[in-house]
Amino acid sequence: MSNLRDLYQEVILDHNRVPRNFGTLENANREAEGHNPLCGDRVRVSLHVEGDRIDGIAFQGSGCAISTASASLMTEALKGRTVEEARRLFHGFHDLLTTGGNADELGKLAVFAGVREYPIRIKCATLAWHAVQAALEQKDHPVSTE
Ligand code: ZN
Repeated sequence: MSNLRDLYQEVILDHNRVPRNFGTLENANREAEGHNPLCGDRVRVSLHVEGDRIDGIAFQGSGCAISTASASLMTEALKGRTVEEARRLFHGFHDLLTTGGNADELGKLAVFAGVREYPIRIKCATLAWHAVQAALEQKDHPVSTE
């Protein structure tokens, strides 16, 4: 189990060091910001949604390793998904962090399973996801985890 934990930690550190899909999206048609005042994490997500499919996604922001790595892994997980699949993934991810739900469908997102032991970090890990939800619902005010 500790080897698995080391591997998980390595993936999180890697995505924090070299975030994927970091920046802005030129053809974005959905955007939202998120803020986690407890930790100081800020994230801005940009998406390009074509029909019901997310065909482009990027993020910017600054925050702790968990929030940055989570946003990075989230963009990889959501690119090419339908809006409905994105909602299901978010629910699955949220369950993983809160009740320890089934990680089978989550792929790499399972690396955050350990966050469940640190409840204050759950907001760091879900911040970017909340921002994406807001963007998909086209709320144009910033979201807060508070
Ligand atoms: Zn944080």
